[in-house]
Amino acid sequence: KKITIAIDGFSSTGKSTLAKQLANHLGYAYVDTGAMYRAVTLYAMQEGFVAEDFLNKEGLTDALGDITLQFLYNPELGFAEMYLNEENVERKIRTIEVSSLVSRVAEISAVRAMLVKQQQHMGENKGVVMDGRDIGTVVFPNAELKLFMSASPQTRAERRFKELTDKGDTVTYEEVLHNVQERDYIDTHREDSPLVKAEDAIEIDNSHLGIKEQFDKVLDLVNK
Ligand code: C5P
Repeated sequence: KKITIAIDGFSSTGKSTLAKQLANHLGYAYVDTGAMYRAVTLYAMQEGFVAEDFLNKEGLTDALGDITLQFLYNPELGFAEMYLNEENVERKIRTIEVSSLVSRVAEISAVRAMLVKQQQHMGENKGVVMDGRDIGTVVFPNAELKLFMSASPQTRAERRFKELTDKGDTVTYEEVLHNVQERDYIDTHREDSPLVKAEDAIEIDNSHLGIKEQFDKVLDLVNK
């Protein structure tokens, strides 16, 4: 019987790595909800609704109807890529510029309402692994398995720093650590659906856990 697996937690705790592994192993769909918030942020940047020193909430809220988001599976990569109004934005949404603005866009209730609705629609037939911040609490409060991932800010910043520099991004470790801590703060303090562990979620601290060990541990939970 197919189930819904909700994976929440702080940024760069390896949610997407685990979610992709699980989805591939189980033959489930994988939905990266962070990519959706990132794509809306990219749109807002392009249209001039958000920049470092301002955010035009009303303007963006009014324009939400013009945003079409799609996940299209790329067989070469083995996962789906994010499309914003028919354009593949998979690379553009992973930059430090988008990362530094996304939590502020994700605070807007109209943005959350739109994306939560789309996510619920994508998961309505079960057999889905979804990762984000509010999946076990808001999107799928009845998910059969809920995981809450954590790791120290330093461990997470090191991982993110390596990912970004491997892609050729010129960032410093301090910038990445600052961004990780700033997003943690905004994500846990926002009024609408703050990041909290669902009561019935199982916490996984992977500061000292290898990818394979973590996967085996979680697979045991799935098979229970
Ligand atoms: O998971 P990722 O780091 O790509 O998410 C980017 C940002 O999007 C998070 O820091 C958070 O502010 C926001 N987000 C959210 N709710 C989700 C997924 C992401 O608010 N379900």
